[in-house]
Amino acid sequence: HHWVYSFGGGGADGDATMRNLLGGKGANLAEMSRIGLPVPPGFTITTEVCTHFYAHERTYPDGLTEQIDNALAKVAAITGKTFGSTDNPLLLSVRSGARVSMPGMMDTVLNLGLNDVTVEALARLSGDERFACDSYRRFIQMYGDVVMGVDHELFEDALGAAKDKRGVELDTDLTAEDWRGLIAQFKAIIEEEAGEAFPQDPFDQLYGSVGAVFKSWMVPRAITYRMLHDYPETWGTAVNVQAMVFGNMGERSATGVAFTRNPSTGEKSLYGEYLINAQGEDVVAGIRTPQPLTRKAREEAGVSSPSLEEAMPAAFDEFTKYCDALEAHYHDMQDMEFTVEDGTLWMLQTRSGKRTTKAAMKIAVDMVSEGLITSDEALMRLDPAAIDQLLHPTIDENAERQIIARGLPASPGAATGEIVLTSAAAEEAAAAGRDCILVRVETSPEDIHGMHAAKGILTARGGMTSHAAVVARGMGTPCVSGAGALRINNDTGMIAAGPTKLKAGDVITIDGASGEVMLGAVTMQEPELTGEFSAVMEWADATRRMTVRTNAETPADAETARKYGAEGIGLCRTEHMFFDGDRIVSVRQMILADDPADRQKALDKLLPMQRGDFKQLFEIMAGLPVTIRLLDPPLHEFLPRTDEEMEAVAADIGVDADLLRERTQELHEFNPMLGHRGCRLAISYPEIARMQARAIFEAAVEAGNATGSLVEPEVMVPLVATKAELDFVKKEIVAVADAVMAEKGVTIPYTVGTMIELPRAALRAGDIAQSAQFFSFGTNDLTQTTFGISRDDAGQFLGTYERLGVMEKDPFVTLDQDGVGELVKIATERGKAVSVDMKMGICGEHGGDPASIGFCETIGLDYVSCSPFRVPIARLAAAQAAL
Ligand code: ADP
Ligand code: MG
Ligand code: MG
Repeated sequence: HHWVYSFGGGGADGDATMRNLLGGKGANLAEMSRIGLPVPPGFTITTEVCTHFYAHERTYPDGLTEQIDNALAKVAAITGKTFGSTDNPLLLSVRSGARVSMPGMMDTVLNLGLNDVTVEALARLSGDERFACDSYRRFIQMYGDVVMGVDHELFEDALGAAKDKRGVELDTDLTAEDWRGLIAQFKAIIEEEAGEAFPQDPFDQLYGSVGAVFKSWMVPRAITYRMLHDYPETWGTAVNVQAMVFGNMGERSATGVAFTRNPSTGEKSLYGEYLINAQGEDVVAGIRTPQPLTRKAREEAGVSSPSLEEAMPAAFDEFTKYCDALEAHYHDMQDMEFTVEDGTLWMLQTRSGKRTTKAAMKIAVDMVSEGLITSDEALMRLDPAAIDQLLHPTIDENAERQIIARGLPASPGAATGEIVLTSAAAEEAAAAGRDCILVRVETSPEDIHGMHAAKGILTARGGMTSHAAVVARGMGTPCVSGAGALRINNDTGMIAAGPTKLKAGDVITIDGASGEVMLGAVTMQEPELTGEFSAVMEWADATRRMTVRTNAETPADAETARKYGAEGIGLCRTEHMFFDGDRIVSVRQMILADDPADRQKALDKLLPMQRGDFKQLFEIMAGLPVTIRLLDPPLHEFLPRTDEEMEAVAADIGVDADLLRERTQELHEFNPMLGHRGCRLAISYPEIARMQARAIFEAAVEAGNATGSLVEPEVMVPLVATKAELDFVKKEIVAVADAVMAEKGVTIPYTVGTMIELPRAALRAGDIAQSAQFFSFGTNDLTQTTFGISRDDAGQFLGTYERLGVMEKDPFVTLDQDGVGELVKIATERGKAVSVDMKMGICGEHGGDPASIGFCETIGLDYVSCSPFRVPIARLAAAQAAL
């Protein structure tokens, strides 16, 4: 069996495709060697050995030692040095490397093979005693720490004391003599702490280090990391053993890290840092300040010590050639490690570099125009969810911030403003031109206004799918929800955030992407939609099959959505319009009316307002489809709650406060989510549905005349469980449509469809499809009713469920494909069996979630509909789903 794979000397046993067996580092070292880059020779002990190690009481498989000996002989043949030799010793590094890079794994051991005898040989061969002693003490230190478990502080303390005694500040100021003293001290520390001597035999050192790498696979830190990322234990880690090259051999030597392009902006220019006369870890450890690689970067940073380009021009030129070669080979931006030993350049690692979303966009688009990747590849490389970051202002990375509380990152973007505690105060502040943050224990539908007026929303209670979070995401307003440390006293207007005391009017900043709440105004960066963004979106549009619509009811939201490329409205929630301005008064009069005549009077007042709303939406959408849902929530949501409000509202609408209280009492429901709502309202009060239908059709005629483009309204009936319910409401709608068409003398091409948001409706979709002309899957309610979980109360236990692994993902965020998804699938099949061409889409929150969008593609939905700011995410996710 092949346990060991060699690399170096212009070839390799393995290659980049063997990441699972060789780990990421090992596979790429092999690949670099194959394509002719200078890689110090070495070998990779496979992940299978790790698996064997744990399956067989921490022992190695038969044949491993022989294969390691053979591999060492190959390294000797290439380098001309022999491992264990006392006159020309081969020195090694031992590096861990799983298939994904994993913090928690063993640190690298460098300079392995040095001992009291070989250190003298190294001094002789290099002609530099100081260098040899420095390398030896580093090795003892690393081996003591990493393999023998001795606290590294002890070594650092001894080193610090030695420098103090000599009155120097830098390690490089110590002499060979100083290092010899420290070597003796370090060995004594190990003996004292580990109860065992530092091993002198190079083979003991090698097997000690290899074993330490395998053992580190099971340390708690690594186990936790794997759990967090869902990486299985069975993967195991590989071990890379490699000939040392020395960046600490003097002024002609150096070590550094680099990215082929700028990982934060994506700019196509070499980016990185290096140190002269240093070994690998020194660059990240911050012992000395590393220097920029290029002259340009050095000048921009305003530092005087030379860049690599200036200090070692030949090595620099060669390095830039390899950067180009690696990008051309991997078709992606690379993150690399290199070392220059006495003027000779060596490549020590390469991998795909991590980058910001902005950089990812730019790099993908640039690489397409450079011919490195196709536009399909570019689309697949981008993370749709991360696009959100590009659409909202963000906190300046360098800004100072004083965090006073933390909550959930409920709606991305950052906002600064004065604290307001009520929606009325928010509107006042906005009207006066002052930015404000609405701070509430939680929000309710009555707050829509204040939420619109505020620059940001902060709640003490509620999860990622609480009212505040859902509405804020819909509006694109930054929101932090569930900041549990906040104590809000609405009576005194005081807020406590831990030890910090705040009051209405104080300025705070919230970051809806991180969930942080900060004191005062924090510097921000405005988003800019770049040409790269447009290019990516164009490719996505040319690729996807599904259309992308938006959930919107205000003209502002509709316009934003159009700007982001929405191809219509998939859900217009008419009740949101009921809270606007004076109309809430008419709405309440309608609810409180004693008889149909009174009710009609109130509805007559509402009609022109609703018509005006719809006309505006139709005009903005100019000929694109618009789905309007009839009134959905229970009526008591429009009535006041507290006693004080009762008095004020009663006065407003001109009724007796007692009557108002009584009516509110009557409308009270124990479980409003399953109560008198949706089509049930339209059936009890058909005059409401008739008014809404009339407003829709009259608006369609008016908007058609105004814009010259044909408006085809889609009227949607919510919460249907049976065909009979839909038939009842549809009859009313059709009658109104006929009447309006007769009055106006025009034909309005309209459709009547239904939301599928109850399990019964999904199962009986075949019946319902005989009446419905389209289906829109309301997966928020369908998730609630399928799981029997109210999303307003789910926060209390879903967190625990996720933490305990009882439920993997919040089903209100990512569609539960197995359960809720199966119902959706059944409904599409049964619906299409009756009416092949029936239009079907999704309008729940899931319509903006990439994983759920992928599911919609597989079951053949025609469109997804999501909040305006998620439209670009959905466009990209739909394209990826189609590829
Ligand atoms: P990590 O995964 O933490 O980056 P690495 O195994 O890549 O760990 O190594 C840590 C440091 O040691 C890096 O700077 C690397 O370049 C350096 N290094 C590793 N192997 C060698 C070697 N054979 N010669 C010189 N430096 C090395
Ligand atoms: Mg590395
Ligand atoms: Mg619903």
